[in-house]
Amino acid sequence: MLHRVLPSLLSSHSGWGLLLLLTTTAPRYACSQDMGRARATITALAAPDMHGRGYVKKGEQRAAEYISRRFRQAGLRAFTPKYAQFFPVTINTFPGRCSLLLDGKALEPGVDFILDPTSGPGDLTGPVIALDTLIFDDETAGQRFLSQSLQGQVLVLRQRDAERIRTLPDAFARHLDQAAALLTLVPDKLTASLSDHQVPQPRLQLLARRWPTQAKRAAVRIDAVLVANYRARNIIGYVPGRIQPDSFLVVSAHYDHLGRMGKNTYFPGANDNASGTALLLELAEYYAKPQHQPAYSVIFMAFGAEEAGLLGSRYFIRHPLVALPRIRFLVNLDLTGTGQEGITVVNGRVLEKPFKLLDQINKEHRYVASIAARGQAANSDHYPFSNQGVPAFFLYTRGGSKAYHDVNDQAQALPLTAFSGIAQLVITFFDTLSR
Ligand SMILES: [Zn+2]
Repeated sequence: MLHRVLPSLLSSHSGWGLLLLLTTTAPRYACSQDMGRARATITALAAPDMHGRGYVKKGEQRAAEYISRRFRQAGLRAFTPKYAQFFPVTINTFPGRCSLLLDGKALEPGVDFILDPTSGPGDLTGPVIALDTLIFDDETAGQRFLSQSLQGQVLVLRQRDAERIRTLPDAFARHLDQAAALLTLVPDKLTASLSDHQVPQPRLQLLARRWPTQAKRAAVRIDAVLVANYRARNIIGYVPGRIQPDSFLVVSAHYDHLGRMGKNTYFPGANDNASGTALLLELAEYYAKPQHQPAYSVIFMAFGAEEAGLLGSRYFIRHPLVALPRIRFLVNLDLTGTGQEGITVVNGRVLEKPFKLLDQINKEHRYVASIAARGQAANSDHYPFSNQGVPAFFLYTRGGSKAYHDVNDQAQALPLTAFSGIAQLVITFFDTLSR
């Protein structure tokens, strides 16, 4: 599908070979004032009063309003009132209590344990029992497990056994549903995510090294609310092109994150994706200046509900605000807060000629340490576009902080090594594409 698109892109230009020779002008982005502003943007979006930009306490709405305000201040044009494109989201949320006690000792949410995205609510205390792992090899043990009542009990199992149990007949996984609560022991790190449905019992993920093997009783208090038809939104603005305003280049970044997990814990999402949102806002500020008005129109798409399954970008491609074939290229920015080891370009192996151009620009100007190409991946908002034949790259940074979908993804942990380099790379890339 993407290969079909490339020739038409080629025919609208003088050819990629020639483009490679035309990349000499360097953009004047990134004085220290811009970096200060970018860091302030990331800090603001990752702050506690944005509630992790999720669906508890209107976190995503606060972030959307912040971006909308910044678009207006920069002077971007809007397709819709307040730049907003609304769409419905059904999502499981954790707005209230979130506690786990083992033999009376409280564990720390976010640090020792997290909730499974599908967790239901519950308020219970019960004896702890471990899953008998003989069920995977021994039929008698399997029958014993299925005939044993799990009611009122908190069942503990290792993550790999939780996965393995799906290889057994359905009756086994269904039997787990009888337990009062499930505690899954996770080996390395806790990685949170979101779900559009809820199971009837509380489900928690506990770091294996925090599991006291002698634990006898667990107390679980979880408030979980499945919210249907939450009104989420994309924030979309643009700068009209000087020469060909009906040809579009797009910068996209999702601004939503995982929100709150209980009253006292939230996921800051500084790298994911306050960083890409800040980069999008810096590019918006740049192009909105009269002296930088682009030849083609440039659209800035701040997507909502990416973490819920690319919902904002999927909605856009079904309800596009400009005809998709008019989009010459889309660059999606997600996880752009590091960069000591350079950047990776998803679709770089699919769109070889645009990738060669990007790499050539970088070799000439040394904007980032290195650029690696990879193939297709349905891992961010570029994907629904590539899937529709819109040429799209997804850029993310490599090296540095390993925090991801956890409470440690904080603004102060980000070195922003490749941040201004990516801004300049995108500006020069767009500049060359619109010649
Ligand atoms: Zn994410």
